Amino acid sequence: MARLVLKFGGTSVADIERIRVVARHVKREVDAGHEVAVVVSAMAGTTNQLVAWCKDASRLHDAREYDAVVSAGEQITSGLLAIALSEMGVPARSWLGWQIPIRTSNVHGAARIEKIETDALEKAFAEGRVAVVAGFQGLADNNRIATLGRGGSDTSAVALAAALGADRCDIYTDVDGVYTTDPRMTPRARKLEKVTYEEMLEMASQGAKVLQTRSVGLAMVHQVRTLVRSSFDDPDDAALVAASRTNTGLPGTLVCDEEEIVEQELVTGIAYSRDEAKITLVKVADKPGIAAAIFGPLAEAGINVDMIVQNVSEGDAMTDLTFTVSHAELDKARAVVEAASADIGYQQLIADGDVAKISVIGVGMRSHTGVAQKMFHALADRGINLHVISTSEIKVSVLIDAEYTELAVRALHTAYGLDGDTAA
Ligand code: ADP
Ligand code: ASP
Ligand code: MG
Repeated sequence: MARLVLKFGGTSVADIERIRVVARHVKREVDAGHEVAVVVSAMAGTTNQLVAWCKDASRLHDAREYDAVVSAGEQITSGLLAIALSEMGVPARSWLGWQIPIRTSNVHGAARIEKIETDALEKAFAEGRVAVVAGFQGLADNNRIATLGRGGSDTSAVALAAALGADRCDIYTDVDGVYTTDPRMTPRARKLEKVTYEEMLEMASQGAKVLQTRSVGLAMVHQVRTLVRSSFDDPDDAALVAASRTNTGLPGTLVCDEEEIVEQELVTGIAYSRDEAKITLVKVADKPGIAAAIFGPLAEAGINVDMIVQNVSEGDAMTDLTFTVSHAELDKARAVVEAASADIGYQQLIADGDVAKISVIGVGMRSHTGVAQKMFHALADRGINLHVISTSEIKVSVLIDAEYTELAVRALHTAYGLDGDTAA
């Protein structure tokens, strides 16, 4: 017998029919003798609608009320899944974040899970009941509902798995695993059998939304074996039933430690993010203190700066400085810099929201050179201009014009030999 946390995303619970399929997946694990807790997202599209309503009601809405609104989608699906399970003869009860409680920080809209009380869930297990937990939400200090940021149900699931000491956390979604790149971007994407926590962390943080970045960080810290798999498989398929019984031969992609991976590729995956914007300050003084004058106020305003590049000045002690922020924060970042313009001193501010970041990721980069060079060649061959470059130990990222996103991803996928057998 194993203890499992199963998470189902928005497309997987999009309507009652899909929720019934989810219930059959849950039932299969229960019938195999496992203790099961389930985390659900809101029905596909619901959270977007709730967010839009908040924005429509007021551009400057209170973040606590935003959380009261956008957490509602998961309340519906947790109740519906508990009903569907009971209907199939599987005893189940729904739980909202505050009922467990899942304690979070007070950063409404992007709260962190701090502690999960497990008594109620342990009792549910002891009584042979499936606990269906609303994802994406918890309880902040002030006794108010807090949400975990978009895609946060993944984090709810992994955190719950860690708190319950689960043997595995299964993330059921609308693709059958983690691919070398977004399979919706290129049909040549190849499914990975295993991927390291580190690589998955980079892939997620560079835009691969199959797992929320924070969920991967938690999985790495708490060593939660996380399996990304499809909810669109037939729940009663004989091979799946056998795999559930033995916990071997499971489908999907396992996110795990590097030691578990026998053959490591040089490059594991390509990620892209269109949620980027760049700001260039033309002719700033090339002297000490300027970077602090720019990035200090941005940090105080809570704006995350990602890539930074400063051009070398030619004699006149003036330089151009470019940095990137998330697209959603472009207007705010621009306002902050403009407000500090007297301290910074620049000639012109150019904002560009039409950019994308493409990243090449692989732990093999630690021991091999030439990865970045291959990237630059492949992109140059396609005439794609690089605005900013940044690197880390296992990643190279470049900022390009958004219109070339697909071309760049496909070119790099081929250049690193990642194309699968389905290649046309
Ligand atoms: P859910 O609603 O189940 O949480 P998401 O839409 O958040 O699902 O994440 C699944 C999506 O992630 C897929 O439909 C796919 O388009 C996208 N994706 C991006 N990069 C990858 C990747 N490398 N491997 C698999 N899926 C990816
Ligand atoms: N429903 C939330 C969202 O759409 C959380 C999630 O799906 O993980 O962001
Ligand atoms: Mg998601």
